[in-house]
Amino acid sequence: MYARIAAWALSGGIIAVTTAASAQEPRPEPDRPGSAAASDASVSSQTPAAGDKLILSDAEWRRRLTPIQYWVTRQKGTEQPWTGKYSRGRHKGIFHCVGCDAPLFSSTHKFESGTGWPSFWQPVRPDALATAPDYTGPEYRVEVLCARCDAHLGHVFPDGPPPTGLRFCINSVALKLQPFPAPKPTDSRVSARPQAGPGGSGNATAAGDQVSPNQSAPADPPSARKADHEH
Ligand SMILES: [Zn+2]
Repeated sequence: MYARIAAWALSGGIIAVTTAASAQEPRPEPDRPGSAAASDASVSSQTPAAGDKLILSDAEWRRRLTPIQYWVTRQKGTEQPWTGKYSRGRHKGIFHCVGCDAPLFSSTHKFESGTGWPSFWQPVRPDALATAPDYTGPEYRVEVLCARCDAHLGHVFPDGPPPTGLRFCINSVALKLQPFPAPKPTDSRVSARPQAGPGGSGNATAAGDQVSPNQSAPADPPSARKADHEH
């Protein structure tokens, strides 16, 4: 599994490097019928459409990002452990890329790794991430990047929990949380429980929200709920 994901993302990482080096500004690229070279064919099926890439100049990234966001995402920095806002505690929602707002991880797949960085066992979508080999440290690592804007996010290691066995070790400053929408007041009434509710076969969002008998305060933020599934 690890090798397969690494291979998938490796090809994405290579694409990211080549596009970032060649382009100064986002340029919608029409389909090129002549680009059916073998190397392109295998990569294009695993990465977002070329028009979906966000490629900005270095000056524009500096303008958009805070200094630490820029340092981590554009210069491959690493925040100190336990300093990031998502390094501890429970956050329910989708974690988006701080650079381009692409959805990257879900709190459904977050786990407490004890490392001091927010850790996930899989991305929200397989094509949300790219990876690249990283030989800069004492040990070989696999770098994780946003597939859309090439932001450095962190690294992925093969020591995560089931079912993937992967640990995506991510810098908090590379992420911004978009909380799951609060349940509608009518949905929270016990008497109005939908038929398909307790079956457990729903999607991740439903699983995270289904235990909420408290019907007093629809304005409560999701973080105030006690229905946690992770520690
Ligand atoms: Zn991004």
